[in-house]
Amino acid sequence: MESLKLDPAGICGECIHAKIVTSSKGGIFYYCLLSERNPEFVKYPRLPVYQCPGFQSALPKKEITIS
Ligand code: SF4
Repeated sequence: MESLKLDPAGICGECIHAKIVTSSKGGIFYYCLLSERNPEFVKYPRLPVYQCPGFQSALPKKEITIS
């Protein structure tokens, strides 16, 4: 059975609007691109994020065949 692994960043780790930013000290941050056009979104969300109205999956949808 396949088990699900959640990204430590939560859903930002799979969101099309997230851009990973690395600091000079090696810290990794998730920058939310939606914050540039919508003030409801913060530039650097507090991680992990588990719910967000702007979330859009960057992963391809799985195709299921029903016979
Ligand atoms: S839209 Fe939400 S889930 Fe996507 S990067 Fe921004 S804060 Fe994270």
